[in-house]
Amino acid sequence: MHVAVVGGGIIGCLTACYLKQLDIDVTVVERGETGRESSWAGAGILCPIHPWLYPDAFTHLIDASLGMYPGFQADIEAKTGISIEWVRSGLLIPFFDDDKTDHWQAAIEWSNRFGWQVEELDTKQTLEREPALSPRLHRSLLWPEVGQLRNPRLLAAVRAWMGQLGVATVEHAEVIGLLKQGDAAAGVVCADGRNIESDQVLLAGGSWSGELARQMGFELPVEPVKGQIVLLKGEPGVMHAIVKHDDAYFVPRVDGRILVGASMEHVGFKPGTTDEVIGRLMASMARIAPGLKGLEIEEKWMGFRPGSPDGMPLLGPVTSIPGLWVASGHYRNGVALAPITAKLMSRWMADSEPEMDLSTFAVDRPVNNSPSVGFPNVAL
Ligand SMILES: Cc1cc2nc3c(=O)[nH]c(=O)nc-3n(C[C@H](O)[C@H](O)[C@H](O)COP(=O)(O)OP(=O)(O)OC[C@H]3O[C@@H](n4cnc5c(N)ncnc54)[C@H](O)[C@@H]3O)c2cc1C
Repeated sequence: MHVAVVGGGIIGCLTACYLKQLDIDVTVVERGETGRESSWAGAGILCPIHPWLYPDAFTHLIDASLGMYPGFQADIEAKTGISIEWVRSGLLIPFFDDDKTDHWQAAIEWSNRFGWQVEELDTKQTLEREPALSPRLHRSLLWPEVGQLRNPRLLAAVRAWMGQLGVATVEHAEVIGLLKQGDAAAGVVCADGRNIESDQVLLAGGSWSGELARQMGFELPVEPVKGQIVLLKGEPGVMHAIVKHDDAYFVPRVDGRILVGASMEHVGFKPGTTDEVIGRLMASMARIAPGLKGLEIEEKWMGFRPGSPDGMPLLGPVTSIPGLWVASGHYRNGVALAPITAKLMSRWMADSEPEMDLSTFAVDRPVNNSPSVGFPNVAL
């Protein structure tokens, strides 16, 4: 069997590796270079932003994926010699009197229900742990087991693993449609006239999957949600845990750098960072974590999250086109969900039923825009 994977982000590349491990020939077809778009740009937080806002099936999928991370990390680092800087830095949510939403009760209930260890801290305990935070906070919740990784390193490791496994990669080849045999998918057509024949096709085109689906003859509700990020030059120890607030999050890296993110902009494919949005992130930082003020901005960048109206990925076969599969719409959680996506999709495509009920994520499910985890109503 030969599978053509459209899109060389973390979802396409890792699924290709898992397919190859099942002795299936794979070709990843990528418009630019593999591992450069959303998967490179993301913050690498291994926990959904406010997981209690999603249906239970989503937590089951997240739990399954995060449960794979320790083994996955050890394995890929041993194979490639590249550290993905996976660390359990913990995640802390500070609570302020003027918060727009009070997540306290929902967060504790969700954590207890799904067995996520959580600690309640008062102001003093919080500031002892995280002195960069504002003393205006009146309490916080800490999930000490939550981890993070460094996206460019993850992608470098996955690319190296693809090379070792012998996954074929065709870069600078834009897919513009499907090759068909009758109604069934039989490969992909590229803009430069190349045809890549295959028995099955996996659409993993990130934010571009909605457009690609239309070119392939079906509808997929995936749209870009732009996120801008700032990288600060910090010293190790300035901040310890990932700090998450509705207005901004802060991700302290192993080397002391701190990532401040991220805007949520439903503005189509509008490239580039803007002073206005970066200014807002910096203003939120000054309010939530004034101890970070004065740190030099080292870099700014942006990426397009593959958004879906209900905040959840679309996984599985396209029923109207035999041989065509989708793994896309991972929105804010594509790195957290990458291992389980790769495992389930590869086995499913190799002809075994998925070991989890994936009906919540079906490609043709009815999707309504969720006001809390779907597309943002306002631009920022
Ligand atoms: C600012 C920001 C912060 C984030 N933070 C987190 C986080 O903390 N934790 C987390 O889990 N997730 C996070 N994410 C989300 C995560 O990065 C994405 O969900 C994930 O990277 C999606 O992976 P992908 O492979 O589907 O998409 P991508 O990485 O975008 O890959 C899709 C690929 O398809 C290619 N492609 C598109 N069209 C074509 C075509 N016609 N032909 C061939 N190739 C094509 C593209 O060039 C691209 O390489 C964040 C994202 C952003 C932008």
